[in-house]
Amino acid sequence: MQNVLLSEMTWPQLKERLTRHPVIFIPCGATEQHGPHLPLGVDVYLSTAMATKVATEIGGIVAPALAYGYKSMPRSGGGSFFPGTINLDGSTLSHMVRDIIREWSRHGVQKLCFFDGHFENQWFITEGIDLAVREIRNPALKVMRFEYWDFFTTQTLQQVFPSGDFSSIALEHAAVIETSLMLHFHPDLVRKELIPDNPSANPPPYDVFPADPKFTPKSGALITAAGASPLKGKIMADQAAADIATAMRKTFDAS
Ligand SMILES: [Zn+2]
Repeated sequence: MQNVLLSEMTWPQLKERLTRHPVIFIPCGATEQHGPHLPLGVDVYLSTAMATKVATEIGGIVAPALAYGYKSMPRSGGGSFFPGTINLDGSTLSHMVRDIIREWSRHGVQKLCFFDGHFENQWFITEGIDLAVREIRNPALKVMRFEYWDFFTTQTLQQVFPSGDFSSIALEHAAVIETSLMLHFHPDLVRKELIPDNPSANPPPYDVFPADPKFTPKSGALITAAGASPLKGKIMADQAAADIATAMRKTFDAS
């Protein structure tokens, strides 16, 4: 199977691959607490694993991930109260995205995909792409961005939450979805005996600054992760990767 990871290629290999105009994937993650059972790099591991799965299918190249992300918020990531949650300011993230697009564009690349795995990154990635596109003014340049979980179908979510207890993607932090995907892609990094079963966080529908730690359950998981399984991870990964590949072929006319 052809290697898709940029970090493992030499420049002559990359030069040859670029003649086929592949989509360049940039996984976007964070360094953020993910409960007592998952490592701080979950959003990097999962965005990279999912991007690699799709890139393998459509002949893309996966560039190194953005390992830091926009600030963890109490209602979607548990906030900044836990050791190891390292946040970027929004403008820093946007400018990193802008600079990366500039650089790939300088090398003649016209198909880029920001493959996001950290909820709070969304608008700052969008801003970085918009700044770059506005500046570069190349009508042939096309940049796609999304959060991979937005591709989960209702049918998939029914299989992952058979008792109909899916709450919201924001509350799924370090819970059934992320734990199942980690059990599928990186089982050796999941402390199974520590999977938390705390009740759902119940934050009000607003933010307060400075943030209130009472919004976040002590485990750091915003809702129970007890129903997680490797099979659920595989179901989500296979379905989302197939649908992302279809969307990317449509967007980029890729093989
Ligand atoms: Zn996460």
